[in-house]
Amino acid sequence: MQKTAGIHHITAMVNDAQRNIDFYAGVLGLRLIKKTINFDRPEVYHLYFGNEKGEPGTVITFFPWEKQLKGRIGKGQVGVTSYMIPMGSLSFWVNRLKKFNIETHVSNRFGEKYLKFHDPDGLLLELVEREEGPTNSWSFGSIQAETAIKGFSGATLYSAQPHKTTEVLEHVLGLECIGQEGDFLRFKTDGLIGNTVDIQLNPTVRGLMGAGTVHHIAWRAKDEVELLGWRSLLQDKGYYPTEIRDRNYFKALYFHEEGGILFEIATDPPGFSVDERVAELGEKLMLPSWLESKRKELEETLSPVAVRVLEGDK
Ligand code: ZN
Repeated sequence: MQKTAGIHHITAMVNDAQRNIDFYAGVLGLRLIKKTINFDRPEVYHLYFGNEKGEPGTVITFFPWEKQLKGRIGKGQVGVTSYMIPMGSLSFWVNRLKKFNIETHVSNRFGEKYLKFHDPDGLLLELVEREEGPTNSWSFGSIQAETAIKGFSGATLYSAQPHKTTEVLEHVLGLECIGQEGDFLRFKTDGLIGNTVDIQLNPTVRGLMGAGTVHHIAWRAKDEVELLGWRSLLQDKGYYPTEIRDRNYFKALYFHEEGGILFEIATDPPGFSVDERVAELGEKLMLPSWLESKRKELEETLSPVAVRVLEGDK
């Protein structure tokens, strides 16, 4: 049976592009690895943040759109996005978030300490110390490799039907259930990053899609052969996967699992250096070839944004 190595990327909706960059790059110190547009709506940015090379398991992406109504986190969504930080760096992050006036609180599950907080649009995030996972050598502001976020530790799914979501995690994606603690079921992959997925068994409210909520979660496929394998397995099991779509940086398919969450499966290759050198990732507005002729008007429509070191972080 094919098994995913874990989370490929997570995509969420927010209102303001510069505020989004100031938080994920400025505060969290992730690298803006790709600045492009929503291929279906070119007047909207699509921003990608990840580790230095933008490797699968580290990438969060956003569609910042000012007119987007506010959503509500709840059933049928990824409720919490979790990042892994190096061992011994939690106090650095407590102080850093405090410095930027971000309220945090600490909770424990499965023997680990989680630092939870909201991003400026209301998305729920948390940090957890983990030994595993490759070090992120992207340093930014006062963040160095020994404190930098490595990538996802995992995510918490607010499923409307936990046993159905369990079924797809175990019998389609190949995750292993490793235990239950209170309201949480925990699943693991064989990968080293983005490898821990919790299902929250009793989310209270129904989710409403909109700004401040996760749009979908993508799982890793090694290559297109695996992706096709998953497509036929999904069809055999009665799901309705989309055709395979070319997303420039990966190939992908999408389906709704029965707990209401939009799942994507995406290939590791070719990756984010397909159209920019690793040293220059995120610097230029990247457009798909069919929109290149409209570059000038698009650049005039999109409000200019920049990665900047925030006040007090020099
Ligand atoms: Zn996606």
